[in-house]
Amino acid sequence: MKAIRVQTAGGPEVLQVEDVPIPEAATGQAVVKLEAIGVNFIDVYYRTGLYKTQLPFTPGQEGAGTVTAVGEGVTAVAVGDRVAYTGVQGSYAEYQAVPADRLVKLPREISTREGAAAMLQGMTAQYLTMSTFPLRRGETCLVHAAAGGVGLLLCQIAKLKGATVIGTVSTEEKAALAREAGADHVIRYTEQDFEAEVKRITGGKGVDVVYDSVGKTTFDKSLNCLRKRGMMVLFGQSSGSVPPFDLTLLNTKGSLFITRPSLFAYIAERRELEERANEVLGWVRDGKLKLRIGATFPLAQAGEAHRALEGRKTTGKVLLVP
Ligand code: NDP
Repeated sequence: MKAIRVQTAGGPEVLQVEDVPIPEAATGQAVVKLEAIGVNFIDVYYRTGLYKTQLPFTPGQEGAGTVTAVGEGVTAVAVGDRVAYTGVQGSYAEYQAVPADRLVKLPREISTREGAAAMLQGMTAQYLTMSTFPLRRGETCLVHAAAGGVGLLLCQIAKLKGATVIGTVSTEEKAALAREAGADHVIRYTEQDFEAEVKRITGGKGVDVVYDSVGKTTFDKSLNCLRKRGMMVLFGQSSGSVPPFDLTLLNTKGSLFITRPSLFAYIAERRELEERANEVLGWVRDGKLKLRIGATFPLAQAGEAHRALEGRKTTGKVLLVP
């Protein structure tokens, strides 16, 4: 089968197609023939070496397809089931052997492309708004990169919960998408001072929570956008890592809270994985959550997909198709 392999950390050019054996299902595993593969910013961090893994490796943390084999002890899924998963590295391939307890069966109404588009970014938007800072009706949140993969889903779920959403984006096209996803206010943070805009919009009070995935370029000002005792949810670093920071600032800026969460700590238990996946897939099935698949690339063009994602050229979800 074809798989993308990374021999040394580096730029998008290190994502090379190789022929490798189709994996077999070990005890507790199922082999999935992939029909759609999710591309996520975390794949960039592993490719560049910001996040460490053993070399060589096959990138990818998300996929959906059909089960073609099951190993000993697997009863929850069977050959022929349509499934999706996240958090198991190696999905940039035609087949992947996945621990069966990480698989979620897809409802009939949901395609494998939608499944691959919903798992990682959908459950992220879900846990950030339901668990990390459970948004309540009437509260206001600031969502950076609001037209991105996580961003468009965060805007929609925050609106489902009755919050006011302020989104930031870099272009007018992205602004239109963020508005469509429910953002009440959209700031072009590459041209406008988002801190001043947030203060203007909130009448000087500040927002209850900032969902910040951009990191280096937004972090400092994001803290200034919070109300007293507000929460900074730093969940990514698309612009670079936030340097070490003085915790005393949380005191002087108004008794703030800060957290740096990861999806994988919120779906480590099977029960939590099922609850979050079922809620997200249910919203998609019921038309409450719209998935925007902004771009699809053939598997062999994984490098192009990364260039587009890192180059801020994408909106919504990016998929690879084997
Ligand atoms: P996105 O689709 O959001 O793409 C990144 C976006 O970030 C760009 O489109 C761009 O939007 C914005 N951005 C701002 N500055 C830069 C920059 N210098 N370089 C590149 N992009 C920039 O990606 P994902 O939805 O896949 O992921 C978003 C973030 O969320 C990532 O940081 C990722 O690591 C994080 N994440 C964290 C999870 C967790 O559990 N902690 C889980 C999932 C994702 P614009 O042009 O509008 O500025």
